[in-house]
Amino acid sequence: MSRPQQITVLGATGSIGLSTLDVIARHPDRYQVFGLSGYSRIAELLALCVLHRPRVAVVPDERAARQLQAGLRAAGLSTEVLVGEEGLCQISSSSEVDAVMAAIVGAAGLRPTLAAVSAGKKILLANKEALVMTGALFMQAVRRSGSVLLPIDSEHNAIFQCLPQDFARGLAPVGVRRILLTASGGPFRETPLAELENVTPDQACAHPNWSMGRKISVDSASMMNKGLEMIEACWLFDARPDQVEVVIHPQSVIHSLVDYIDGSVLAQLGNPDMRTPISNALAWPERIDSGVAPLDLFAVARLDFQRPDEQRFPCLRLAREAAMAGNSAPAMLNAANEVAVAAFLEGRIRYPQIACVIEDVLNTEPVTAVDELEAVFAADARARVLAEQWLSRNG
Ligand code: NDP
Ligand code: MG
Repeated sequence: MSRPQQITVLGATGSIGLSTLDVIARHPDRYQVFGLSGYSRIAELLALCVLHRPRVAVVPDERAARQLQAGLRAAGLSTEVLVGEEGLCQISSSSEVDAVMAAIVGAAGLRPTLAAVSAGKKILLANKEALVMTGALFMQAVRRSGSVLLPIDSEHNAIFQCLPQDFARGLAPVGVRRILLTASGGPFRETPLAELENVTPDQACAHPNWSMGRKISVDSASMMNKGLEMIEACWLFDARPDQVEVVIHPQSVIHSLVDYIDGSVLAQLGNPDMRTPISNALAWPERIDSGVAPLDLFAVARLDFQRPDEQRFPCLRLAREAAMAGNSAPAMLNAANEVAVAAFLEGRIRYPQIACVIEDVLNTEPVTAVDELEAVFAADARARVLAEQWLSRNG
């Protein structure tokens, strides 16, 4: 048996990070933890270090580093502690690392993920915002470094499993008509529109089928998550926005489908548990036990489908428009959404205002070309300033 693969988990203290470590711990002969990162949950990061004994752990600043180091010493561990974005880039690109789980939430994950790409690592991509922001530049970097890019997002992992291995030739040459991206519809799928004005952050985060971090939970409620995923699918599978159709499927059992020109529609099904796509990507092209219970179709009993209503889910329309506009539009959409969601979670704005913030930013700021990374960061920064200005005017 070859040596265990060395894995870095960026965002180890989050929902995807913990699911990843759960799978890794089931296969000590195949995987070892090289690097872990945390941001605000330092006590949890220490507990993960005790359990998984990484070589390196990364925290945001010196204060957090002192806290973690004290805990590591008390536990008799020799884990090295690094700090900040530079530390994240180091554990992503170290010559000792084989694969990187990119599971930091939002734009904060972009530079470390790109560091892993440039170093030619196997990338397990959960941090969809990184790909949405940088699209063409990200995919160019993947091709240039020869890095293997495997989708963790359950929908994209499902599509990846339903496509032939040579899909990189393009969708038409492999006979694909369109991609059907499933969405649960979130907690507000049937809430009367007038009541959306008063929904709370906790209600928005109470997803009916998935247990996730708070930002992506709000994105799922607003369906901005599906909008970001539409853009993500376009880049991963070289699809046009009109080749990706969103289908509401409340049971979250079918994770997405591929529609072929001969009339075949292939789907991937499973219980809604992220350990399935994580295991699939970790072991690809092999399969390993993920700890996920077998799907009981008799318990599921029925599968329903609905067309999304853009009046209920304006964020889906905004994301589609940004996908069509391309260039800086997806980065601005993402940045405005991050600011708006944080404001909603802090109680500064009401839920329907999330879409208002994003629409205002996209209507105010012209779309510009983004042929280098600095242009993406500039678009991201401009959108954040405009979104904050909206909040000071209306929040
Ligand atoms: P969580 O909020 O649960 O975890 C986020 C992780 O990122 C935590 O480890 C957090 O550290 C860290 N983090 C937060 N802010 C920063 C920052 N500024 N700098 C560095 N690290 C930071 O999110 P999820 O695990 O739910 O999601 C992670 C990513 O995966 C997102 O991009 C999401 O869209 C994607 N995803 C998630 C799915 C899910 O089922 N959860 C499904 C599909 C995609 P700390 O907790 O210590 O503060
Ligand atoms: Mg998803």
